[in-house]
Parts: sequence; structure tokens; C-alpha cells
Amino acid sequence: MIHKLDNALQRSLHERGRRMTRQRRAVHDAVLASRDHPSAEEVFQRVRRKLPDVSLATVYNSLEALVECGQISKVPRSDQGPARYSHRLDVHHHARCVSCGKVWDVDEESLDVQPRNIGVRFRPVAFKVEMLVECPGNCGSRRSSR
Ligand SMILES: [Zn+2]
Ligand SMILES: [Zn+2]
Repeated sequence: MIHKLDNALQRSLHERGRRMTRQRRAVHDAVLASRDHPSAEEVFQRVRRKLPDVSLATVYNSLEALVECGQISKVPRSDQGPARYSHRLDVHHHARCVSCGKVWDVDEESLDVQPRNIGVRFRPVAFKVEMLVECPGNCGSRRSSR
């Protein structure tokens, strides 16, 4: 891992009275290397390959500490699925599978969406689109109600 990044992570943890630990760094690295908005459980599976002794609770706590420090972000939930985490801190669009809850990033260029007639009181600052999709292929049992 790049030292500069390490220092930034260490500093932001330190500013909030938290220490850099091996586990926190591994959790940070795992989220940074992920493009699929992993859940805590999925991050746990990935970190475990490097740190076999790590617990799910430690991974969960590390994720929350990193979110608090603004190093990673939590993907807002629109379903009952688990919380998901991302290395991206900017406002961007998502596609979410209605069956398994997995989330993908959607490029701005691939959407042609403009806010219209939203009322004169609002001054749009940014907007996020969440497209509900079905995974390509089989991702588990489909919900019959949809
Ligand atoms: Zn799916
Ligand atoms: Zn995203």
C-alpha cells in the first residue's frame, strides 16, 4: 500500500481519537480494492484471507470507524439488505438488484436524467439515481412479488 495513503488514513483516525490497527488497515484496503459495494460480511471474507484471526465484529467496527473518519462511505439502503460500503466518497448513481441487493455504480454518461418541475423552493445541489435491476444470471431466489 502507498505510504501517502497510509498516512492520511492514520491521521484521520488519530484526529478522531482512534488508532490505526492492522485490522483497520486491512479493512480499509479491502474496501479500496472492491468495486462491488461489499457488505460487512463480504469484507470479512476478504480480510480473513490476510488476517485469519479477524472477527466479524472487528471488521464491522473498523468499517464504522472508517465511515466516521470519512475514509470510506456507506451506501444508503433502500431495502432490507445489509449495509454496503464503498471507497467512493462522491455523489454517484447506482443500480441495485431487487433480488440479492447487490449494488453497482452507474456512469453519469449512461443516464439521461434531468430534474424538472421539482418546485421553486428547492435549489438542486446534486442528485443520485438508484436504478432497480435484476442481476445478469442467477443471484438466488427471485422475489415473486416483483
Ligand atoms: Zn442479484
Ligand atoms: Zn457506488
